[in-house]
Amino acid sequence: MKALQYRTVGSAPEVVDIPAPEPGPGQILLRVTAAGVCHSDIALMSIPAERLPFPLPLTLGHEGAGTVAALGDGVSGVAVGDAVVVYGPWGCGACPVCASGRENYCPHAARLGIRPPGLGSPGAMAEYMLVDDVRHLVPIGDLDPVSAVPLTDAGLTPYHAVRRALPKLVPGSTAVVIGTGGLGHLAIQLLRALTPARVVALDVSEDKLELARGVGAHEAILSDADAAASVRELTGGLGAQAVFDFVGVDATGASAVAMAALDADVQLVGLGGGAVRVGFAQVPYGMSVTAPYWGSRTELADVTALARSGVLSVHTETYSLDDAPLAYERLHAGKVSGRAVILPNG
Ligand code: NAD
Ligand code: ZN
Ligand code: ZN
Repeated sequence: MKALQYRTVGSAPEVVDIPAPEPGPGQILLRVTAAGVCHSDIALMSIPAERLPFPLPLTLGHEGAGTVAALGDGVSGVAVGDAVVVYGPWGCGACPVCASGRENYCPHAARLGIRPPGLGSPGAMAEYMLVDDVRHLVPIGDLDPVSAVPLTDAGLTPYHAVRRALPKLVPGSTAVVIGTGGLGHLAIQLLRALTPARVVALDVSEDKLELARGVGAHEAILSDADAAASVRELTGGLGAQAVFDFVGVDATGASAVAMAALDADVQLVGLGGGAVRVGFAQVPYGMSVTAPYWGSRTELADVTALARSGVLSVHTETYSLDDAPLAYERLHAGKVSGRAVILPNG
């Protein structure tokens, strides 16, 4: 089968021909209908060889949707032909954290060598993919797989982040979304659907700001050195009660802190490699900074249910597997609007 693999550290991913996998006991084979292109893959492909936590080659794709093609021994609860999306942050499945559905925070996965598809295990950018356990599958029924597949990360990660900030996002509050790409354009919509907050979006290009306004941001402003002052002005000097940084470089982190209100939640979601300094009287009193990771299994079911209710408009551009390297080039250049989605089976 055809697959998109990251094969050589520092090189672009390549379309290759590899044997199709067969499901072992407990595993499910999916015929992939859609695979999302996440900016984290670009971060992954810039890790130097000595720090790469798993061997290459790696089939990319940690956002996957497919139809069940075959069941390994002992699998029940799904049937051949079912349409599903894949929950990606696989945990051990046995500890109390996993039992609560929060496998994204399983304390044992790394030690046991359990890695998400596309981030250490073979991913979704292939004609077929293996899923290790039926609990990782969320049925999507008749949802379009192209618009459903980004829910598994570009939807789930901001949903998890927004849920953490819900107590702060009361009527009259302001939430800021920095970076309105794949994750950010869904973060805006999740904030609108789940909170009464005023939503301010920041990005570096007018195209992205237009998308932000189109999906519900009340204000969309350029992300530059004046952005924090603009947010303060928009909020009568108070600042924002929640700031979600989907870029994560030093400059956006500093900007996030500079626009935060007293007792605000600042969440650094982006893998830009930046950091913020926190110290008494150097940041607003009571402000917290967290770096959330992905989301829980129940949260993916929530996001899927929200999508089914029609409140999410997932913007996508589609590519064949042969053109997948081009999708990464365009994402790297900031040219993708919403989420790029690969169609490995045409
Ligand atoms: P994306 O490329 O689709 O979106 C990033 C957006 O940020 C683009 O619209 C870009 O124009 C904008 N941007 C770039 N520099 C900016 C700046 N200085 N100020 C404001 N906006 C700026 O990427 P994505 O796939 O949505 O991912 C967003 C980030 O989240 C990436 O760093 C990714 O690695 C990370 N991520 C983290 C998690 C997690 O669990 N923490 C999960 C998924 C993705
Ligand atoms: Zn991702
Ligand atoms: Zn666990």
